[in-house]
Amino acid sequence: MALNVLEFVAQPGRRIPIDVVLAPVPGEADDLRVVGEIHMRGQGFAQLATLYIDVEMTTTIAQPCGRCLLPIEAPFSLRESFTVPIPPTADAVDVRPAAVSLLLSAHNPNVLCRPDCRGLCPKCGADLNEDPSHACPERDPGTRRLGDILRP
Ligand SMILES: [Zn+2]
Ligand SMILES: [Zn+2]
Repeated sequence: MALNVLEFVAQPGRRIPIDVVLAPVPGEADDLRVVGEIHMRGQGFAQLATLYIDVEMTTTIAQPCGRCLLPIEAPFSLRESFTVPIPPTADAVDVRPAAVSLLLSAHNPNVLCRPDCRGLCPKCGADLNEDPSHACPERDPGTRRLGDILRP
């Protein structure tokens, strides 16, 4: 969703309250992503074809658990000041891409699904949360033979 800038442009330098909800963009997907809406609250002003924004942003971030890769969604908020160029004759600017990149660069990259997550078996990838007594069986002979062949 674009932020209407007519009011800002009409009164350069004047601080105007911002309270918008930026809707999600379809197809905006990755392992790590902002899901859902971004609620942006604060103020901004226009000066020399630039929109200066100072807002609190609240959203939900989805990412895999740092140990077991289970998808987690967690609320996240960030207070940030940033600028967005206002193209000549534009009556609105899209502030979501800038907001998303700020949110993703500021969030914690090593979130765990729970503090005592056991993670995955390093050999077979089994989820050790589901099977705490997991003991990996010996690799089958076929795999070992292939490994021997490939060894220099
Ligand atoms: Zn986990
Ligand atoms: Zn295993």
